Amino acid sequence: MGIIKAQDVVYEYVKRDEEGNVEGSIRAVDQVSLDIEQGDFIAILGHNGSGKSTLAKHMNAILYPTEGCVWVDGKDTRAEEELWNIRQSAGMVFQNPDNQIIGQVVEEDVGFGPENMGVPTKEIWERVEESLKAVGMYQYRKHSPNKLSGGQKQRVSIAGVLAMHPKCIVLDEPTAMLDPNGRKEVVRAVRALNDVEKITVILITHYMEEIVHADKVFVMDQGRIAMEGTPREIFSRVEELKALRLDVPQVTLLAYELQKQGLDLPRGILTIPELVAALEREKGSLKKDTPEGKDKKCP
Ligand code: ADP
Ligand code: MG
Repeated sequence: MGIIKAQDVVYEYVKRDEEGNVEGSIRAVDQVSLDIEQGDFIAILGHNGSGKSTLAKHMNAILYPTEGCVWVDGKDTRAEEELWNIRQSAGMVFQNPDNQIIGQVVEEDVGFGPENMGVPTKEIWERVEESLKAVGMYQYRKHSPNKLSGGQKQRVSIAGVLAMHPKCIVLDEPTAMLDPNGRKEVVRAVRALNDVEKITVILITHYMEEIVHADKVFVMDQGRIAMEGTPREIFSRVEELKALRLDVPQVTLLAYELQKQGLDLPRGILTIPELVAALEREKGSLKKDTPEGKDKKCP
């Protein structure tokens, strides 16, 4: 069993009328099974309302499945006595950094988590330092969070989760409210957590560019996992992604359109250097092929 395992998870929100009577239910997660290995970088994609946040909230026991089971680090999330262990194993970062930062000073904010866990004071300061360094915010430790940019605030939120020494960090659209620079800062910090600190990352996003480095991608639609694979496998299925109302990275789309025009390019190109290299190869083979081709046509 991996660090997070979901087995046939169904989650239904109860719909009530104004008087509080049950009107019906909305099935937000529908028969989802997944098993995430420790150390993996996982991305979850899907358009609005596809069930991503509801699924994410199962990963640190904010919600419990209506049907099925979720285990975090081997612990059933329904086991009440494990709640704090579960929350410590899998930290959550949400969309809006303003709702997550409570301290008046950056370092104080980052220290709240370990303080609540009863970590000794000396160790709290060590953790605050290492966490702020890991997200590149150590030089701002004495600043007021209010004065920081969105990307910086979000990195402070991430440091706050890191200071609890989680095995896994679940980020629910952490870049949705940020400008392109802020997005880059946050994605870079998240990648470093995975690469350097070996923390399992589950990144929910609808920015395709952010998932290029993931080990595995799940695409959700109507509460279900509609597609699953490496970024390259997923991005080679351009038509299916379009049908799920998802944008494909521009470079992948360009390569796809060139393929349709008859260029012999590999499927699922993810980066500009990859496309350039593939075009160079294609150009080389065209040069070689053309005279032979001509010979064949005009014997
Ligand atoms: P996503 O994060 O992919 O946008 P959500 O998990 O937020 O999707 O929502 C999945 C479905 O559940 C949607 O149809 C949404 O309207 C519904 N939903 C989400 N939160 C609630 C809630 N608190 N009460 C009722 N329905 C909800
Ligand atoms: Mg959401």
